[in-house]
Amino acid sequence: MSELMPTLFFGHGNPMLTLSQNAYTKGWSEAGRSIPRPAAVLAISAHWFGGGISVSSSARPATIHDFYGFPEELFEIRYPAPGEPLLASRVRDLLGPQEVGLNRERGLDHGVWCILRHLFPEADIPVVQLSMDAAMAAKAHYQIGEKLAPLRREGVLILGSGNIVHNLAMYSWESRSPVVYDWALRFEKQARELLTKRRDSQLIDFESLGPDARLSIPTPEHYLPLLYVLGASEDGERPTFPIEGIDGGSMSMLAVRMG
Ligand code: ZN
Repeated sequence: MSELMPTLFFGHGNPMLTLSQNAYTKGWSEAGRSIPRPAAVLAISAHWFGGGISVSSSARPATIHDFYGFPEELFEIRYPAPGEPLLASRVRDLLGPQEVGLNRERGLDHGVWCILRHLFPEADIPVVQLSMDAAMAAKAHYQIGEKLAPLRREGVLILGSGNIVHNLAMYSWESRSPVVYDWALRFEKQARELLTKRRDSQLIDFESLGPDARLSIPTPEHYLPLLYVLGASEDGERPTFPIEGIDGGSMSMLAVRMG
């Protein structure tokens, strides 16, 4: 297959969003319909961030409910997509000589299935998840994205899931129309401009982007999946933003499509 598969970054936000029909879930469904059908999905989620690099290699990945205090309805969701051990091995080969573990126990976390159940509701496209090594510099995450780029010509959808602005401490759980923080709006706008101009090095060096960036990215795990999607894109590719919105005042739901 020589067609170049787009790469996609999604803001997943609060897991409750996956339960209803809202602008975000409609956007996820539309995004699924707007791209060629992938042979497989390689997902990088904020919620697999730890020691070393691992790739899920189960043929039947479980649905992980990696949250607590939410309604039972959310815990009952299953996303029974198959895994693809061959793709897991391919990812390991592409990332060599970096050490990459194959993890047969790992299932799909909510950063992945909250979105995929709208993107591909039939759950018939194999999904493999790649972890992020918390000890690596931002640039190294971007470089992994670059190494993964050949997969795009093999029909693999590289999907990042996090949030460009993610300040959970300031997130409003109660209000239906909370005040959106100025710093959240400003940083989202800045990130969007840098993406459009392909100032990748500035996006990698997000810690130097000032106080708005520090409030928007208090911890890096929700931002870093964006760097994989960006790293896997070609030089001339420009982003589109199929989904927009700030949820709960402090969480950007911006989706980024490259290609
Ligand atoms: Zn999250």
